[in-house]
Amino acid sequence: MHASKARIWASCAEVARTTRCRSQPSIRHAVSRRLSTQSSDGPLRAWAAHSGRSLVTRIYNPIPQHRLSFYPIRHYCSHLQDLIMATPTKTENPDQYRLSTDVKPLHYDVVIKTDLEALTFSGFVKTSFDVVRDTSTITLNSAQLNLGKVTVYSDALKSEQIPTGQDFDTVQERATFNLSTALPAGSKGEIKIAFSGELTGSMVGYYKSSWEDEGKTRNYALTQFEPTAARRAFPCWDEPLLKATFGITMISRAETTNLSNMPAISEEVIEVNTNVSEEIRELASGSEGKWKVTKFENTPPMSTYIVAVANGEFKFLETSVKMPLSGKTIPLRIYTTPEVIHQAQFALDVKAAALPLYEKIFNVEYPLPKLDTLVAHDFDAGAMENWGLITGRTSVFLLDPERADQASKKRVATVQSHEVAHMWFGNITTMEWWNYLYLNEGFATLMGEVIIPVSLSASPLLHYNPPLLRIFPEWRVDSEFISDHLNRALALDAKLSSHPVEVDCPDANHINQIFDALSYSKAASVLRMLSNYVGEERFLKGVSLYLKKKLFANSKTHDLWEGIGSATGLDIPDLMENWITKIGFPVLTVTEEANGIRVRQDRFLESGPAEPKDNETIWQDRRFCTEAVDATVVLGPNIPLFILSAQAGGEYSVDKTAILQQRDQVYPIDTSKNYKLNANTVGVYRVLYTPERLVKIAEEAGKKDSIFGVNDRVGLVHDYLALSKAGLAKLSSALTVVDKLRNDTEFLVWDGIGENLGGLISIWWEHPEIVDQLNAFRRSLFTPIVDRLGYEFNESDSRDVKLLRKLAITQAAGAKESKVIDELKSRFAHLVQTGDDSKIPSDIMSVTFSIGVKYGGVEEYEAALRAHDKPKTPMQKIAAMTALGNTQDPELLKRTFDSISTKARDQDIMYYFAGLAGNFKSRRLLTSYFRDHYQELYKRFEANFSMQYLVKYSMDFLSTKEDLETTEAFFKDKDTSKYIQSLNQTLDTIRAKSAYIERSTEDLREWLKEWENRK
Ligand SMILES: [Zn+2]
Repeated sequence: MHASKARIWASCAEVARTTRCRSQPSIRHAVSRRLSTQSSDGPLRAWAAHSGRSLVTRIYNPIPQHRLSFYPIRHYCSHLQDLIMATPTKTENPDQYRLSTDVKPLHYDVVIKTDLEALTFSGFVKTSFDVVRDTSTITLNSAQLNLGKVTVYSDALKSEQIPTGQDFDTVQERATFNLSTALPAGSKGEIKIAFSGELTGSMVGYYKSSWEDEGKTRNYALTQFEPTAARRAFPCWDEPLLKATFGITMISRAETTNLSNMPAISEEVIEVNTNVSEEIRELASGSEGKWKVTKFENTPPMSTYIVAVANGEFKFLETSVKMPLSGKTIPLRIYTTPEVIHQAQFALDVKAAALPLYEKIFNVEYPLPKLDTLVAHDFDAGAMENWGLITGRTSVFLLDPERADQASKKRVATVQSHEVAHMWFGNITTMEWWNYLYLNEGFATLMGEVIIPVSLSASPLLHYNPPLLRIFPEWRVDSEFISDHLNRALALDAKLSSHPVEVDCPDANHINQIFDALSYSKAASVLRMLSNYVGEERFLKGVSLYLKKKLFANSKTHDLWEGIGSATGLDIPDLMENWITKIGFPVLTVTEEANGIRVRQDRFLESGPAEPKDNETIWQDRRFCTEAVDATVVLGPNIPLFILSAQAGGEYSVDKTAILQQRDQVYPIDTSKNYKLNANTVGVYRVLYTPERLVKIAEEAGKKDSIFGVNDRVGLVHDYLALSKAGLAKLSSALTVVDKLRNDTEFLVWDGIGENLGGLISIWWEHPEIVDQLNAFRRSLFTPIVDRLGYEFNESDSRDVKLLRKLAITQAAGAKESKVIDELKSRFAHLVQTGDDSKIPSDIMSVTFSIGVKYGGVEEYEAALRAHDKPKTPMQKIAAMTALGNTQDPELLKRTFDSISTKARDQDIMYYFAGLAGNFKSRRLLTSYFRDHYQELYKRFEANFSMQYLVKYSMDFLSTKEDLETTEAFFKDKDTSKYIQSLNQTLDTIRAKSAYIERSTEDLREWLKEWENRK
């Protein structure tokens, strides 16, 4: 899944998805015990036999078994683990959250009829299963469905029985059927269940979406199952480990299109003489009009959460690619509702370029005969990797190539590439349970958003090179990763309420809350560090070995380490264990000694130096376990330091072998010359230098041909602002670093500066005098760039120039630079007066709308509203939604608040909240709105992901002790279980901001005064 909701608003960069799962060591152990008793190769064999596919020929260069056998098994130090788990909790019975393994599903035949007029669906599912143990009950998942007739057939008993009773557990979302005759172990059976449900706008399960067609609202239906909503579409064993094959049949109105994971093998309109079963004829009857039945090929063995169906009036664009391993030609389509199909070409082109490249890099064949994408107007996440049928929201797939800005192009390309990565990571090889979600998401993020775009830019695009894709060579995705992912992850992981990347999440409420910056961005950052440490080629080789070993199966962390260990000969668990299983990350404190540097590690917390009890996490290794550890296991590296320093000959190089394995260690380097740790900013930590060394580093960083590259400079800015927040460095030192970089020419360095200065203003927002002075400093940095680059976006400009121009205009306007504001106002005025938006370049559409509405009145507000109602592109709609929250007029603000319940699509609500949270005039009103409308919001969003964001967006700009108390008091009597992680992180954020203000206001004021005098 792609979590594109984060970072939707510049000032919300620190408001990334932040949630936490409760840690329960006892469950971890119990789950792994249970997992080892299950196997999923039954459905695989059956699928291979049924579809005539040979599994063996699909595997290229399988891992020699003898190479794996010497690989050391990781020894789990349970004592230490128990000691440092974030939240001690009562012992619960882990099995209560998991389905019984008495029967194991093998194959589902799902028949589903969609009625887009009645907004209902109905059908039946026949599931064949193995009986593992004698049982007289069958329990599976079902939610929000009406269940009809149920029959159970046993091949051992040679008879069909109707259950004597049914029990429903609405909390666990389960149905249990009681049988009068027990099913004997070792036999096979089949359960058939009729079901029906409603197509609602919930954005989970099988749901309806809509679009406007000549003033009329038209509906279509699609699914969103991850993580636990397949059970809302048909009764099933809805856990990722319980893989099975699926044969889907859809019944729909004849003029609509049916889509599913696999290609259709037959489709016919149901007439009097059509040869269909009585059951299908009965389902199709009773409704007006012509109906058709579409039967799809059986899938390979797969988890329920990536099953998908859709029905509606769709149009498509199509291409095909020849795959490098199989030599097969794979058709690729992208479907949309008819009115937006012309904006889909770019996403199709990216998919066509990426799919063969993944097959080549992973050396594992793409196993399905097609790969479709369906773009939806109502979608909760960003996008979803259903196998063979990717789905997602318009803003991550559609763009008008003539008008698209740089950010939209990147978003569409990386999301498409991210989802295609999942066809392997997640779909071919699936995590055993949700605690390993990061194996899906960390990988898809790293592969999809860094490695593949870099590969696309480095090589001719295999067999496919349409002109649109020639943008790739300009991308610097690895550097952008530092702000987009690494810094976001560290910001979240710096809270006491963070959670380990690999985190126990027993039930659905917990599972829903782990799709956060830790599962995505921290996991991707840790994997990027590993890839840099072992070298990308060996890293990818290891990944390929891992995938081949787990084809159509399930995996856990150890399996990945084993693959990368085989490819590198290194002890990967020793290097990686703590990064994945422990909460937090280190700050490295560097001091200088006679013959080198001493590096010490402590846990980094945004609230200040870690207390001893919170500071045991990272540096501990297995030598400190009280339990016996296999003596043959060699202790390995822990924190790769990537030290950039001068060598004897005077040249600079990076030492990739230096590893910190203890609390502190000395490294001999020449400190008479400059040096820096975390070269290229690939490590998942922050580095604190002495004030004297910092000045030298900052001066070097500010030089024209600095030894510190762009990644180093971006990292330095983020590190020092974060260190000052934590009280480890003075805020004045951080601002001095920024001031030294004022002649930098790189967009990414400026992006880091802009984000951090915007962040400071957002924290001190209720101190107007400081805001004014910070804005003056911000103007002094960004206005000269606007003067230099102007407002026109030319074809011939590089991507960096376009991005820097956009950033400088946005920052200068935000800092109240009057000439920039006047320019944007006049461009917006032209749109207001004429309806023509051609004076607003798409790269600055968002800021122009926001400034137009902020400094305008009713007329400007209504112009934004018109763009909102009839947007030319998804991007324009987002610009309008956030701008509506930026008005300063109380009456107009009230209209925006009213629109939240009358106008906003559920999927778009966070854009309204983000707009209102970015406007200092509306912040406290937003908090009150949330409290006053809590019941209404909870009811509307409790089923999907949104509630977590609403909590954060409405409150995490608060920054006083009274705010903290009021917020805690408000939630005291609420059921917070669906958003508890997000709430805890919001409370931590308020706490940290309040402490930051208390600690640093004087220092900040003095630095600003000194700067004012100096200028
Ligand atoms: Zn994903």
